[in-house]
Amino acid sequence: MDYKDLADKIFPNAKDISYYEEKYPERNLKEGAIVTRFAPSPTGFVHIGGLYQATLAKKLAKQTGGVFFLRIEDTDQKREVENGITGIIDALNDFGLTPDEGMQNETEEKGNYGPYKQSLRKEIYQAYAKYLLAQGKAYPCFCTPEDLEEMRQKQEAAKIRPGYYGVWAKCRNLSVEEMMEKIEKGEEYIIRLKSPGNPEKKIKHHDVIKGNIDFPENDQDIVIIKSDGLPTYHFAHAVDDHLMHTTHVIRGDEWAASVPLHLQLFQVLGFKPPKYAHIAPIMKQEGDTKRKLSKRKDPEAAVSYYSEIGVPKEAVLEYLLNIANSNFEIWRKQNKDKSVEEFDLQLNKMGVSGALFDMVKLLDISKNVISRYDAQTVYNETKKWASKYDTELEKILDKDLTYTMKVLGMERGNVKPRKDIAKWSDIRYQTAYMFEELYEQAQEEYEYQTITDKKEIQAILENYLTVYDEQDDKQTWFDKIKDVAEKLGYAREVKEYKLNPDKYPKGHVGDVSTVLRVSLTRRANTPDLYEIMKILGKDVIQKRYQEILSK
Ligand code: GLU
Repeated sequence: MDYKDLADKIFPNAKDISYYEEKYPERNLKEGAIVTRFAPSPTGFVHIGGLYQATLAKKLAKQTGGVFFLRIEDTDQKREVENGITGIIDALNDFGLTPDEGMQNETEEKGNYGPYKQSLRKEIYQAYAKYLLAQGKAYPCFCTPEDLEEMRQKQEAAKIRPGYYGVWAKCRNLSVEEMMEKIEKGEEYIIRLKSPGNPEKKIKHHDVIKGNIDFPENDQDIVIIKSDGLPTYHFAHAVDDHLMHTTHVIRGDEWAASVPLHLQLFQVLGFKPPKYAHIAPIMKQEGDTKRKLSKRKDPEAAVSYYSEIGVPKEAVLEYLLNIANSNFEIWRKQNKDKSVEEFDLQLNKMGVSGALFDMVKLLDISKNVISRYDAQTVYNETKKWASKYDTELEKILDKDLTYTMKVLGMERGNVKPRKDIAKWSDIRYQTAYMFEELYEQAQEEYEYQTITDKKEIQAILENYLTVYDEQDDKQTWFDKIKDVAEKLGYAREVKEYKLNPDKYPKGHVGDVSTVLRVSLTRRANTPDLYEIMKILGKDVIQKRYQEILSK
């Protein structure tokens, strides 16, 4: 009896690996094309760190004319949730990261390298496990959980490196006959790798992001097939990324320590290993310490959070590129109107330590992104958001579309567009004074600045109402404000005032227009007042000013 008999005994029906090697040939791609994947567990939850990985993976594939695919890693069936795949696919589609291949929904898939869901690949993993068994490079292990616990305690007591390796690997040296006998008797087993490694020896490895790293060789006889017949992550990774011809494994830093094991698996299986790019996690500052952005503690860790507050996807993606490559920011400044598709992402320019998550920065990027949108896009996106999260706002916007488009079009499409909107949920506040219902609800304080005296404010408003004419062009409009200023003893020009402040104790025309602005909007900072007045119209201006005058 030999290992081949053992392999046949354990996996009688498994195919020869040549079947799969032929079924999944090299991809026919041009030189330099990169094949990447996103390989989440189907928990439904998409962490911003996962989106980050997928963004990089998709972009690199696209940049090089390669392929980006989605593989669902559901071998840990405890972690699964209902419709978990849909949640992931929706998030990817939402962010424009639609995979070229892989799962399309809970059950369907696209591409020639499937199945793309690991639980459907059981027979493939078993074929490769059988292949290793037949060569004596893997073996069945009959240790019970109690055996393993006892071993762990002994190792701990003796302060020895934990794990199933070397002399501790009890089943490693069973004879084929002994193994066969145990199987015959119906003893439960799992399949382990017979690690050929020696931890005294080092392997040199080059990580695309982290650079050169030396690791001791792996000598753990890790589990490759679990008792439920499904593979462990490690074994599935080697088999899948080989058969799917992944060229670059872009994944979280937490897997970096497994590289010696993974390289060994590729070697034992006779596969060419992929390149590895381990991404540092996105961190959060908490007091004096930094920690990983946490699904449990930080709402911003969930990709869905950005949809809820209405940050455009584009802004989230730009932010992620920003933390990926520090030269992105300069590129963006120099290429204001280009699509991010044109930015050339480089993995080797990525930071080795985890970037700090910076919401202020993200919102700042978002303000810039939104400032590039036209009124129609702002309307469409706000409506989409509001229909889910603020139906009152949706109704208000839809009451008079022509009017709404004017409001949303304020200071857009010019050299210095407005940048006060970071998310669709800001629209309510940032347009509050443009819609009567919102204005009345708002009950804000008037943010008067230098001129706060009631009488003075009234004088300005009274005088202004007598001269305001909706037909005036901007120059005439401003000249009239200057006239009012001069009449009431303010400097007509700011310049004049600066040259001779003593001559104008009351201030200048700017202070007067601030009164006009605040009295109309209650705010000191708004887009262009001329535009606001034009859109609001004479009746509203009169009404709002009269209200103040009557107090
Ligand atoms: N399923 C693994 C995870 O979610 C995938 C890691 C990888 O990309 O290989 O962490």
